[in-house]
Amino acid sequence: MIETGAISMEQLNRQVSQCTHCPLWTTRTQVITGQGSLTAPLMLLGEAPGGHEDMVSGQAFTGEAGQHLEEFLQFIDIGRQEIYLTNTVKCRPTKPSPRGRYGPYSNRRPKASEIKACSHWLEQELKLVSPKIIATLGTVPLGRLLGKNIAMKDYHGRPFFSEQYQAWVFPLFHPAAIIYNRKIQPLYYADLAQLKEFIKMHL
Ligand code: SF4
Repeated sequence: MIETGAISMEQLNRQVSQCTHCPLWTTRTQVITGQGSLTAPLMLLGEAPGGHEDMVSGQAFTGEAGQHLEEFLQFIDIGRQEIYLTNTVKCRPTKPSPRGRYGPYSNRRPKASEIKACSHWLEQELKLVSPKIIATLGTVPLGRLLGKNIAMKDYHGRPFFSEQYQAWVFPLFHPAAIIYNRKIQPLYYADLAQLKEFIKMHL
């Protein structure tokens, strides 16, 4: 564990950008830090950057993830500048793939060891932003906050208060999951509608 003390987000991002705490630093093009309002009451917590973020934009939630984000924001009727966006793991996890869209690689889920290595940075972000609601996208960020492996079917659309983070955690499916599994599409949209009401009640 690295001690950073009380530092600004700018300082934190400078440190993260040079991180070599897990092997993902050897394959990344760049570290993708969090973005958005540092006083945002809503934090959107994703899994990890993808190829577009790593190789094209250098920004969180662009490319395919950006399209999901736009739809998400439209649905809950909130602007991108009003929230804070970040990922559980800050560098793109890849696996070899000759037909990869961004280089000879495709995205993969981060490993437990990578999530653990990156935990320190997320903890610092959570302290600095101190959101009232953390909306998690998929099993990786929710499992990270809970510190255990979870099944989305047991958690999605069921907000709970985290004493540790002093915030409501609102579990959502990963938006990409609804493309691969059409059966969860209505559940995903029902959860979004519930989140919209939840935000009205709590923010
Ligand atoms: S994924 Fe996180 S821990 Fe691993 S190198 Fe990147 S910033 Fe460091």
